[in-house]
Amino acid sequence: MCGIVGYIGDKQAYPILINGLKRLEYRGYDSAGVALLNGKVDVYKCKGKVADLEDFIGKKPIDSKIGIAHTRWATHGEPNNVNAHPHYSQNNDLAIIHNGIIENYASIKKELINRGYVFESDTDSEVLIYLIEDIQKNEQVNLFEAVRIALNQVIGAYAIVIVSKHEPNLLVAARKGSPLVIGVGKGEYFLASDASPIIEYTKHVVYLEDEDVALIKKDEPLVVKTVKNKDKTPYVQELELNINQLEKGGFEHFMLKEIYEQPKSIRDSFRGRLNLEQNLISMGGMIEYEHKLKNAKRIIIIACGTSWHAGLVGEYLFEDLARIPVEVEYASEFRYRNPVLSEDDIVIAISQSGETADTLAAIELAKSKGATIFGVCNVVGSSIARATHAGAFTHAGPEIGVASTKAFTAQVTVLTLMALHLAQSRGTISTTRFHEIITELNIIPEKVEKTLKTSSQVKEIAERFKDVANFLYLGRGYNFPVALEGALKLKEISYIHAEGYPAAEMKHGPIALIDEDMPVVFIATNRGTYEKVVSNIMEVKARKGKIIAIVTEGDTEVKELADYVIEIPETEEMLVPLLATIPLQKLSYHIAVKRGCNVDQPRNLAKSVTVE
Ligand code: GLU
Repeated sequence: MCGIVGYIGDKQAYPILINGLKRLEYRGYDSAGVALLNGKVDVYKCKGKVADLEDFIGKKPIDSKIGIAHTRWATHGEPNNVNAHPHYSQNNDLAIIHNGIIENYASIKKELINRGYVFESDTDSEVLIYLIEDIQKNEQVNLFEAVRIALNQVIGAYAIVIVSKHEPNLLVAARKGSPLVIGVGKGEYFLASDASPIIEYTKHVVYLEDEDVALIKKDEPLVVKTVKNKDKTPYVQELELNINQLEKGGFEHFMLKEIYEQPKSIRDSFRGRLNLEQNLISMGGMIEYEHKLKNAKRIIIIACGTSWHAGLVGEYLFEDLARIPVEVEYASEFRYRNPVLSEDDIVIAISQSGETADTLAAIELAKSKGATIFGVCNVVGSSIARATHAGAFTHAGPEIGVASTKAFTAQVTVLTLMALHLAQSRGTISTTRFHEIITELNIIPEKVEKTLKTSSQVKEIAERFKDVANFLYLGRGYNFPVALEGALKLKEISYIHAEGYPAAEMKHGPIALIDEDMPVVFIATNRGTYEKVVSNIMEVKARKGKIIAIVTEGDTEVKELADYVIEIPETEEMLVPLLATIPLQKLSYHIAVKRGCNVDQPRNLAKSVTVE
């Protein structure tokens, strides 16, 4: 979603702000802008990329040691130069950057218009800065106080940073529902939506909490209060992130780099949790709720997008191994239903960013009904990590490409660990079988490595099918979510229409689409249902569809039938998603590159969906 950057200190602000915006580009945005303080507030902004903003600024004055910057992902008002942030207050004395949505902006705006205010933009954000200015004027309070009072009148989600011409030595920041991190340097402060713009300057950060308002003054300690005016002691923590993790490392795109990082990210996800010698899985986050988890009557998994697909793999895992009934829900649907939940239910919320608005809202709903909530997310300090009772981080490292790859396999890894752990504590798996599976999981990174080597062949398939209009992905059992994820990946980055289905469902509709132009990807590795998938392949072949099959090494039957075959190493059935997903990610990537698409920042998509 949008990106926020701020700086106050002794350095020139502009380069720090622009570099920071570039670090946040992965979040997806449509326009960019900066505000620099130098006697007055100078705002420069435009529709387009950060590079367009730099061109637009050209030789305009940028000398300033305090400033704020923003990449916008439009929610109120189309993406254009006027709606881009920062927004001035009416008299141009203040400027704001805002991430989120002010839900009651219309009524506030109406009142301000009645009092003679004239708005420039269509945004909800501009309404907030006008309100702050109005409060300052009427109540004769300083900026910090005016912001605090204004936020008491506001409903919605926000991360904001404000500069003022009249208080040139400070920034005021606040958050509720949207992320905001403050980097604490020597006599200087950095602000950003996540730690990536900050890491090159300082490792000391404060994650603001919901309803915190911060007063940030150069050379002075940080002051944090709640919007209700309670003092807080900011908790400074040390970042573990490393700058190399944020760069492309020689790959053409972040997405490709992240695909190739999967042997490591999967290993990092089970590192320290898998204990072969003692034949057990230990997960710190599960200890406190062990009893609840073990006795759960039902597990409900809530997520969106790719995380929802990981959740579907989780459904097979928990039912298969731990014998607990599972439901997998779209967070956006769950939150607006009146779901039946009890204290015996465990809700598992999955989100890469840990900021997904619908998932957060679904968590709050489930909490209010007494369920225990377990979070699976990738970003330490994120809202979901803090909103849940317990959880497990996926440890995939920062995922910059908007289309999720390594976060998906890391989520599946963590869900596998949880299901195995629960199976062991519930006694639904034998010691030998448990040992077999964790031994295999331990060598999965090597098998992922091997799977990644099928590269040249995937490129050939991509070349052949790059211009088609539709794709179908079919799989059964554990491979059904893999089919869904393969289709989603292709849609997201190549803009080719693709559908994923359980293979046997093909006859109930999608078969009507099959002709000689339709490529059909089969994930045909299953042991139990292999013959059935072979029959489905025959049915597609009879209608002249083109068959691309993912098979287990050494397969002969499907190889005979398919037009293109990609082999993956043999593994346990429940671990196949960790391997079968890899060639599908690569297929989408190469098709998208060949079609000239912006792989890392596909159109209309945002990395972290912080609005519902
Ligand atoms: N709601 C604000 C707007 O539409 C902020 C959007 C964002 O988070 O970038 O301008």
